[in-house]
Amino acid sequence: MRPIGIFGGTFDPIHYGHLRTALELKQRLNLAAVHFVPCAKPPHRTAPMTEGGLRLRMVEAAIAEESGFVADARELERAGLSYTVDTLASFRSEFGDRSLCLLLGMDAFLGLAEWHRWRELPTLAHIVVAHRPGWEAPNSGALGALLRERRAPSVDELATKPAGYVHVQPVTQLEISSTDLRDSLRAGRDPQFLVPDSVRQIILDTECYAEPV
Ligand code: ATP
Repeated sequence: MRPIGIFGGTFDPIHYGHLRTALELKQRLNLAAVHFVPCAKPPHRTAPMTEGGLRLRMVEAAIAEESGFVADARELERAGLSYTVDTLASFRSEFGDRSLCLLLGMDAFLGLAEWHRWRELPTLAHIVVAHRPGWEAPNSGALGALLRERRAPSVDELATKPAGYVHVQPVTQLEISSTDLRDSLRAGRDPQFLVPDSVRQIILDTECYAEPV
């Protein structure tokens, strides 16, 4: 059976850097589906600016046309901090011994060793890291060792076991970030061509990133 991709993030808001990366990983890894999992309470960063229901709505709007992309509310429905280890455990109990791939940008991967019970993550899923502009793969420390020890022999190997490999995948580099988007929206600029039109419309209708008056 084809692997399932799990793509977590604050998605505050979702943008084409997320969407293009997820699509290329889906194609390259031959994923059956990519679950977009908006985070409720991120343990390692400041709280999202926009409440979870609205971020989920933007994700749903962004992926509506793409079959195989799923908006997944499990972290929003769970109380407490949104630990990825709990999310992966929940996917594992849902999908049995199917191959699961946790999808991360390089910036997120570089912080992995700070995550709650991070050593358990590769026992629950493969870790697939997408290049992101400005971030280099680690070659030392715990994450450098993780990359060396668990590197998948080829991308096709990810489908052959449920979890355990680390794979770094080049993707088209789009230097878009939600932080830059929020800054530019606060300054009153139009997000056109950085986010799907459906997301742009929600942002304009709700004024969720406007400068408070
Ligand atoms: P912020 O600027 O608020 O930190 P972000 O743009 O980094 O947000 P997140 O929702 O925090 O977006 O990211 C979710 C996941 O998507 C992370 O694994 C991150 O590395 C990845 N990601 C975000 N933007 C890109 C991009 N432009 N290219 C590749 N991966 C990305």
